[in-house]
Amino acid sequence: MGIVKLKGIRLPKNTSTTGIDITSLRPMDFYNVPLKFKNIAEAEPVVNIGDEVKEGELIAKPAGKFGVNIFSPVCGKVLNIFDKITSWGEYCKHILIMNNNKDEFVDLPEIESVADTVLIERLRESGLVDNIANMPSFLKYAYTGQKVYKTLLVLVDDIDPNCTINQTILEYKIEEVVNGAKYFMNMTSAPHITFVLSDNNKRLADKIRKHIAENKKNYDYKIKFLPAKYPFTNPYIMSQIIAHKKINKKTSFLDAGVAIETAESCYNFCRAVEFGKPVTRKIVTIDGNNVIRKGNYAIPNGVSYENLIDFAGIVDKNEPMKIIEGNLLHGVAQYNKEISISLSTNSIVLEKYNPFEMGDEFNCISCGKCLKVCPMGLNPQRLETAYLDNDADELENLRIQSCIECGCCSYICPSKRYITQRIVNAKHYNNLSNGGK
Ligand code: SF4
Ligand code: SF4
Repeated sequence: MGIVKLKGIRLPKNTSTTGIDITSLRPMDFYNVPLKFKNIAEAEPVVNIGDEVKEGELIAKPAGKFGVNIFSPVCGKVLNIFDKITSWGEYCKHILIMNNNKDEFVDLPEIESVADTVLIERLRESGLVDNIANMPSFLKYAYTGQKVYKTLLVLVDDIDPNCTINQTILEYKIEEVVNGAKYFMNMTSAPHITFVLSDNNKRLADKIRKHIAENKKNYDYKIKFLPAKYPFTNPYIMSQIIAHKKINKKTSFLDAGVAIETAESCYNFCRAVEFGKPVTRKIVTIDGNNVIRKGNYAIPNGVSYENLIDFAGIVDKNEPMKIIEGNLLHGVAQYNKEISISLSTNSIVLEKYNPFEMGDEFNCISCGKCLKVCPMGLNPQRLETAYLDNDADELENLRIQSCIECGCCSYICPSKRYITQRIVNAKHYNNLSNGGK
């Protein structure tokens, strides 16, 4: 297969959060820290109810090799450890910590060198979560055997249309991003770094070039522009475009010799290597037509939606509101403001609720728009029909498992058909009918 033609939804040059610096949240009274992030295995607590903990202290460790270290986001007292629902609809243990307003913290021990084995151990210790692959970052490198990396891709743009975290981090924390990228390069022995940006962001490319030239950073790098079309930063699409290799469910971008990191991962890795800082907070974009202070926020792990909404401000407090974690094309609607924001949250959209938007779907008019927009070259309309017909063979023939669930087909459909939702269901159906293979 050749290079995938880049389809998708054209993104605007600027969004309402472009260029806004990162805001730190004011200290909260309580932090309810989830011990699981999406696909990542639940960690087990290493603290007990009643314990005093410092900011940065280890509070949970991996139960198996697919977990991450979790650190306290605050100095305080452990009030409870209990099961609670997460923003992705699963129950997991949470550690409830009450802030004691002391300014005490612990760091990771200093490292002696930046040899690759030391760096990978620091990556493991730091608790860094990979929000592209939804796995502990170190696992990508620790258990993949002797891979030869052709390049390290650093995403300086964002996966979601309502998200500007990576471009903002590059704008305001360029030193840490560039240094962190260098540590990833050392660790992977990749011969060079490719910074990937959309063609909306040429100014940031100049900023990278200028920074590297002025600071005489000693590494080989390239800049690659891709058309600003959602979901161009999806790793499967990027790997295919940049490594010219097809990636499917049975292979990974690591098999194509491509390591992928984001500007945010580079920033966090740099802080872990140079300052011994474990990961306790996530940069999250807050956007939508019902929020007063849109922007990028540094949110400690375990802050509730309720606290965040109070801080960011709501335009219309008396009307119902939609809370969406992720973007408007494929985000997950939240129904409970007590849910915690976690290290896997990238963006949150607060929208005024409009009951008339939830109109009925109409019959397919065979316009072909879904087909034209699908970035994976699938036929969404036929996939939907195969699902409705319970036709597992046809789903397989139509390469159902290649769907990346981006939502472009539903977004573009003039008949407002629930195509993506049905395809997601169909993937589960197809998995079951194939014995989960
Ligand atoms: S079929 Fe899947 S990959 Fe294609 S547009 Fe729809 S959601 Fe995206
Ligand atoms: S975009 Fe909607 S109406 Fe058009 S072919 Fe696809 S499913 Fe049918």
